[in-house]
Amino acid sequence: MGLSICALGSGSKGNSALIEGERTKILVDAGLSARTLKERLEYAYVSPGEIEGIVITHAHIDHTGGLPVWVKRYKTPVYVHYKTAPVISELLGGYTNIVEIDDNDFFIGELTVSPVTVSHDVPCIGCSVYSAGRKISVLTDLGILPERTAQNISDSDIVLLEANHDVDMLLANPRYPAQLKRRILSNRGHLSNADCAEAAVRCARGGVRQLILGHLSEQNNAPSLAYESVARRLEEEGFAPGREVFVAVAVQSVPTGIFRIS
Ligand SMILES: [Zn+2]
Ligand SMILES: [Zn+2]
Repeated sequence: MGLSICALGSGSKGNSALIEGERTKILVDAGLSARTLKERLEYAYVSPGEIEGIVITHAHIDHTGGLPVWVKRYKTPVYVHYKTAPVISELLGGYTNIVEIDDNDFFIGELTVSPVTVSHDVPCIGCSVYSAGRKISVLTDLGILPERTAQNISDSDIVLLEANHDVDMLLANPRYPAQLKRRILSNRGHLSNADCAEAAVRCARGGVRQLILGHLSEQNNAPSLAYESVARRLEEEGFAPGREVFVAVAVQSVPTGIFRIS
């Protein structure tokens, strides 16, 4: 079976990914409603009771929206960094189901989870999940990807990486006030398609062969734009998209397929 990932939904309105090892299934974030999460897990033949832990990257609603109802129903342990734990405990009405983590690796079943600190406008982590010599990394909600972090994830088998916006679309969007545009474009905001494309090249050089682009803005991006930005840069650097590096785009409305490393 190895290790697999399925983005159950990804975008500004809600994020959650299922990661499955030999025996252990976890979620990274629970930003879709509990009902939608349950429905989408059914696509992967997983029932809520099988989820052994939910890793929360940060407190924004698009990562936690479904958490209170889910935890009330299924009592799943919630793994959250100590800097974010107070906000999540408020959301859940106490610490009962919270497992506080720090910057060190932690374990859920046979999975090793390694937190990756990222730069966002609230305390935020990404994570790498290891099992049986395989590695999947999930990195969304980051303003910049420092060299060290890029190196850290570049030996993953699969990376789910943020491609939040097309810079021109964002700048031209009349519905977004200047301050919000500045926040998104800042080092504590979100990765653009161009940023993601550079990161994708670094990942490809490191040996990553499957990339899932995620957390696309509905207003300031389109799956085709994100894909083309990344595919073009990979091609320029000699990595044939679809052959040497498989690139998929996760969206809000439906889950991706299940990406598996056997
Ligand atoms: Zn987000
Ligand atoms: Zn966020």
